[in-house]
Parts: sequence; C-alpha cells; structure tokens
Amino acid sequence: MTPLPIDPSLTRILDALAAAGALVLVAEPGSGKTTRVPPAIVRQGLGGRVIVLQPRRVAARSTAARIADERGWTLGREVGYHVRFDRRASADTGLVIMTEGILTRRLLADPFLEGVGTVVLDEFHERSLHTDLALALLREVRREVRTDLRIVVMSATLDAEPVARFLDAPVIAVPGRTHPIATAYRDAPRPADPDAVAGAVADALADPADRGHVLVFLPGMAEIRRAQRELGPIAARHDARVLPLHGSLPADEQDAALRPSHQRKIILSTNIAETSLTIDGVTTVIDSGLARVARHDASRGLDRLDLTAISRASADQRAGRAGRTGPGRCIRLWSEQRQALLEPFDEPEIRRVDLGSTLLTLHSWGVGEPGAFGWYEAPEPERIEAAEALLARLGAFDPAARRITPTGERMLALPVHPRLARLLLAAADEGLLHEGAALAALLSEKDVAERRRPAGHRGLSDMLGRLDLLAEAEAARFSPSLKDRGIDPIAARQVAKIRDDLARLASRLDVGRASGLDEAAREEALLKLLILAYPDRVVRRRGAEETGVMVGGRGVRLARESVVREGEFFLALDPREERRQGTLELQVALASAVRLEWLEELVPQSIRRERRVEFDPARERVVAMNRLWYEDILIREDPARPPDGREASRALYEALLPRAGEVFRADPAASAWLARYDFVRLAVPELGWTELADEALAGPLEVLCHGKTRMDEVRQAAKVAYLESLLAPAQVRELDACAPTSVTIPSGRHVRLAYEPGRQPVLAAKLQELFGWPEAPRLARGRVPLLLELLGPNQRPVQVTSDLRSFWATTYHQVRKDLRNRYPKHPWPEDPTTAQAPVRTPRPR
Ligand code: ADP
Ligand code: MG
Repeated sequence: MTPLPIDPSLTRILDALAAAGALVLVAEPGSGKTTRVPPAIVRQGLGGRVIVLQPRRVAARSTAARIADERGWTLGREVGYHVRFDRRASADTGLVIMTEGILTRRLLADPFLEGVGTVVLDEFHERSLHTDLALALLREVRREVRTDLRIVVMSATLDAEPVARFLDAPVIAVPGRTHPIATAYRDAPRPADPDAVAGAVADALADPADRGHVLVFLPGMAEIRRAQRELGPIAARHDARVLPLHGSLPADEQDAALRPSHQRKIILSTNIAETSLTIDGVTTVIDSGLARVARHDASRGLDRLDLTAISRASADQRAGRAGRTGPGRCIRLWSEQRQALLEPFDEPEIRRVDLGSTLLTLHSWGVGEPGAFGWYEAPEPERIEAAEALLARLGAFDPAARRITPTGERMLALPVHPRLARLLLAAADEGLLHEGAALAALLSEKDVAERRRPAGHRGLSDMLGRLDLLAEAEAARFSPSLKDRGIDPIAARQVAKIRDDLARLASRLDVGRASGLDEAAREEALLKLLILAYPDRVVRRRGAEETGVMVGGRGVRLARESVVREGEFFLALDPREERRQGTLELQVALASAVRLEWLEELVPQSIRRERRVEFDPARERVVAMNRLWYEDILIREDPARPPDGREASRALYEALLPRAGEVFRADPAASAWLARYDFVRLAVPELGWTELADEALAGPLEVLCHGKTRMDEVRQAAKVAYLESLLAPAQVRELDACAPTSVTIPSGRHVRLAYEPGRQPVLAAKLQELFGWPEAPRLARGRVPLLLELLGPNQRPVQVTSDLRSFWATTYHQVRKDLRNRYPKHPWPEDPTTAQAPVRTPRPR
C-alpha cells in the first residue's frame, strides 16, 4: 500500500481510542483518514463491527470499494456499504460504510446497536443535519446504555475543540503533506457558464509544464452537462477526457472519474470532490465558487437546493485538492475583491434546513422535549415549535401527549420531507402511488411549465394540469421541441426520475388495494393528497375571486394563470411574497381546490366547533354564536340558542372591562361620587385613600353586570351603590362628612354640591338665600372653602367666590345699587350677614 500521512499516527490513534473510548481526528483531505483508520480499528480487534458514517452516498460506495481494493478484501464480505436503494454487506461484514439516515433508522429499531463496537463519523466539518443528529444520538446511546460503544469523529478542518468537548474526547491532529498552490483570480461575470469554464480549462491545458489532471468545481448537474458539451473539442485537441462526477450519476460513471488514468482527465465535479472523494494526480483546480446548498424554502414548505457562493474555508479545501502529489495551481473564477467578501465558514445545515424530519426522528426516539435534547448545536426554539406544529397538522405528532403517532412512525420509513412522506403514504394506501409520487416530484422539483400559461381556463387544480404536462413530456420522450409547447423538457425528465425513485421507495410500504376509481373520483383523491401534505396552506377566498386569507392570517392573491377560479377555499402550494401597492401579499400560481367536507375528513384535528357567548358591539348586547373554524379561518357562523344569565353577564362584564372607567363616568351620579372620592383623597391625604384607577372598578362592574345582557340595562342602572361597596363603612361616613352631597343654606333649602375632578366643590344659589352666612362653609375637615356661585334674581351669576365675607363687604353694595330698582320685590338689606334669608324668593318678572 502507498504510504499516506496518517500511517505513522495509526498506533497513536488506536491507543487513544482504546483508552478514551472516543476520539476526534483531524487531518487534511487525502491524508488517509477514511481509507486507513476504519480498517485499522477492525484489525486492532477492539471488538464489534465498525460502522463508518458518510454524508454522501457516492463516497460511501467508493470508500468501501477503495478499502476492499487496497486490502484485497471482497466487497460485501470483509467490507461493505449500505445506502438508500443499495446495500452490499452481509450479517458478519466487519466494516460497513453507510449514510447517516440508514444508521438513524437502525438506531430507532435497535437503540443498543447490537454487535457494533465502533461508529466513525466521517466528514464532520460538513455539519450535515444528519451528522449532527447521529452524533447526538450516539452520545446518548453511549451515555445511557452502551458505555463500551466507541465513537470517532473525523474532520478535515481544524475546529475540533467544540466536538471534542461535546464527546469528552481527546483530539489527534495529523499533519498533512501538502504542496504549495499558486492561486490565480480570473473574474467571470457568470462563473459557472460554459464559456467561462472552457476559457480557464483551455489555458490550463495549454501550459506545457503541467500534465496533471484538471478538477473543475461546478454547482450542479445542469452546469456540468453544459460545460461537458463546450469542452468536448478542447479536450480532443489535447488528448484529454472530460468526465462528470455527481451524486446522481450511475456508479460506473462515477468510477470512471475516480479511477487512475494515464490519459489526462478533466473532471467536472460538484462539491462532492471537495473533501469526501480523492482523485489522484490532480494538479489544477478550477473553481466556479458556487455550490447548491439545501435551504428551507418557505414558499413550498420544503427544503430546496439554492445556488450560493461557497465560503472561504470551502474555497481553500477545493484549492487544496491540487496540491496532493506536488505543487499545484488553482484558478478561481471570481475576483480578489469578491474573495474578501466570502463568508469565512459554511453555515451548518441545522441553521438553514427544515427540522420536520429531525423532530419526527427525535419523537420516535422518545424525546418528549426536543428543547432539552442534547443537541450538538440546538436550533432556535421557534423553529422547533414550527416544525412540531407542522408535524401535528400532518397527523404525525400528537401535541397533547407530545408523542409521535402511528402515522408518524410509518412516515419515518420514507426518507423524504414529512409533507411528501404524508402524501406518499396516503397515495400508497389509496393505490395511487404512481400519481402520488408524480405530485410529490412536481412539488419538490423545478416547475415543468416553462412559461405562464394563458389565463382564462377554469379547473380544480393547477397540479392536475402539471400532471398532464408531465405525461405530454414523457410521450414526446422529453424532446427539446417541447419548449414550443411551454414545457421544460429537462425539468420534466428530472421530475419523472424523482417520481420513479419515490414510487419505488414507497412501494416497500404496505400498499393498499389497486385503485379502481373512475376519472372524477381519481382526481378528487389526488386533490386530497395535496391537502394532506399542505394542511397549513388552506386559503379562504374573499368575495373577489382572486384574493383570500390563508391560515395564519396572511393575504393571498391568486395569479392570473391559475385555473382555480371557483370555490370557497383553495390550497396555496407556492405562495411567494410580493409587494403590491406598498403591502406585502402572497402571490400563488399553483393552487388546488379544497372542500369543507374534505377538510373534515382529512384534517379533523384542525377543525374546531365552538359556541361563543359574547358582546356584539354593533347591537350592544350579549349574543350566542356557533362558529366553525379551520385553524384560524372562520368557516361558518350562526346564531345559537340564547345564553343563560350567568354566561351572559360574564360576557357582558368581559366586554366592558377594558372600559370600566368609562361605564361609570358616563353616569352623572357615579361620576360625581368618584369626584367626591377624589376630592377627599387629595384634600385629606392622611386618610391614605388610594386612587381609584379603572382596574379598581372591575369588582363593582362585575356585580353591576349580574343579570344583565344589554348595554342599555347597564346605562340605566343606579351605580353609586356599586361604587360604595369599594369602601368600608367608616370610609363611607368619612366621605359623607368631608364631601357631603348637599348642604342646607340659610333659606332652609338643601342645595346639591357640584363636584368635578380637579376642582373645588361648587354651591350655586341666589345671593339672597345666603343672607345670614358671614362666610362660605368649609369642607374636608374645614380645609377647603366651597366655591360659591352667587346668582342674581335673574339667575345670572353675579360673582364666583370662596370669600363671601369680602363679597358682602364690597361687591354686594354695588350689585345692590344696580339691581334694587329693577327687582324691588327682592330684599336688599344693608347688612346681609345679619339679615334673615327669605324662605322663598319671589320669581323675577
Ligand atoms: P482522507 O479521508 O484523509 O481525505 P482518504 O483516505 O480518502 O483520505 O484518501 C487517502 C489517499 O488515498 C488519497 O490521497 C488518495 O491518494 C488515495 N485514494 C483514496 N481513494 C482513492 C481511489 N478511489 N482511487 C485512488 N486513490 C485513492
Ligand atoms: Mg475522507
């Protein structure tokens, strides 16, 4: 075997693992971690089978093959692999390379990991959601039931400390054997375009000093295909071969790219060759700087591959692939200025993808409270909540019991997003697997409709139209001429492939009877599948046919090309935010009909019937209503049997509570009482009376509402007694003493005092009636004189004063002179302080 940088460290690695039971191993890509460490563990005879987790299927297969090759082992006997759709290993294969999803499902069935001695997590730096989850689950297994289980984490970058702390494991860093790499920047406006790639490749091939292979990093299959066509003639001129390398290629085509070759290779690869696959003899790397990265797509509610700029760390890993065997070079198809703007590291998947599948797994694992689970990096609580809410709506999670449902358990068998798992499960049960899988593929892949179709059609669902387009594309064998008919043949081919994968996958489930449905019933069944996958996307149409409100309260506008123009409800399958006249609304091009009875049948847990007794502000009375809700969408509303007294008073009270102060202050007597109370409170602070804020009036309001259902009953009721109930008897006496409602004036009449907030109490009387009072009486333990509003015989105010003595002494004489002749029947004594007030004053003429 060729010596590799890791070889001298193998003994040290095995000793550390045997001693600590866990280990973090860091070394440059290509140093031999993947191909040398796992077989060494097997040979060491630590006991038990060795499982290696690989985030990528291609890498799992090729690693197993490479190990078998190097050691003269037989693939499927001493070493094997196990990935989705493909397994080569027997019961006693000692070393199995698998993808994390396979291990997770295995753990759910067998949490003790019977027979497994060591689990190696490879490519940890990629931080895939699956790797994160597997690491956390394995740590728990090791802590709780299998203290002898050994865990090795292998990573290409140097940030090993956090994971070492997480596992309480030592770190071993093995120095690599890298050669200098000359980096050149060659700015291209669209770096993944065939001409940009071809230009860079042509330059590299033209260098007579370099005969090594060229490795080109491109974001995806489509870009690889296009570059492959463009590069054909250039490669021929240099006697080189162009080879694609991509996760969804058949295994033999992948092998062709990886196999050693004397002929010069131009390998067009996705980021699969960044660290997980090694290609020997590469001396030039050409990097588009782009990758497709899974990210939650809010519009479809699924994860989607997004075209993104790679991080600086990623760009360095890619460049490093040129320096394996000798000095190399890297051509970056972007500028040095752009380089400075790149993110330093990739964002871990747990921060950007949907957590539905992960939470379903955790609940199946028995984690009732995912917030308290031992995550390697915990997601934000809101994202956990949102994922659980969706699982509940899909019928996979019982939020009350906080437990996975039997449907949820069945969904786990399908390694797709829970929405699509729910759809496929139902499709299988209905015997509609082929069409169900097509719907799932159409929903998750690029739209097969190339341009917007003409408006004006009417129909049940835009998805039925897409199924027809797919059939049309298949019948035409995905011919490029389909473009003329508005169909994207490449997208259609991809959808058909995914459909077949999904259908094959789901057919392993218990499949229901073959569907004997007629055309209409079949269509209806397909529409129901969509509801099961998107129960949170129900829209209730507003009066106008193109707008509505979606569950959650957001406004939706149906795009012109949608055919779903009728019906009270529809499903919004691709709501996209759009700004329209300054407000954000959701624009929907893919819609599908929904009927109330379907919701009742399919999503009963989201239907709520309620009888509400409540105050109707328009009629100002308590009414009882029956309402039917779908989540937060009001579907129906009808008057119910009248409420009983207690319910009604309660509803009245609750409706009036926010304006309790207003209710009392609108009543003159209650308002005066409150003013008296406030007067005493402020004038006699030593009583320690508290301010009667609106909240303090809740009690009196509640009693006031007893036995009432209408606002006018509340208005008419006498309210002072309710307010008095706030005071102790001694306080009531104090209130009456300090702030009497009326006083008896010298004429013998009882005069009501006017109390107003923030003012001195006022007494209004004809001045003749006050003859005999030398000065104004004082309230509040003699502290505040009454404000007297002295009226002339014509009832007009003559003077407003609290100083009666000075009035009698001065102004009175002037008034007397002015009015005596006009009102001769009224008494106008010289000395009013000693005069007798008349019991009745004559009426003015
Ligand atoms: P690491 O996991 O540290 O990145 P690997 O164990 O994958 O390293 O690879 C170590 C070395 O083995 C590589 O540098 C390469 O030289 C060689 N190698 C690995 N896989 C293959 C293969 N399929 N064909 C040829 N050489 C390979
Ligand atoms: Mg490796």
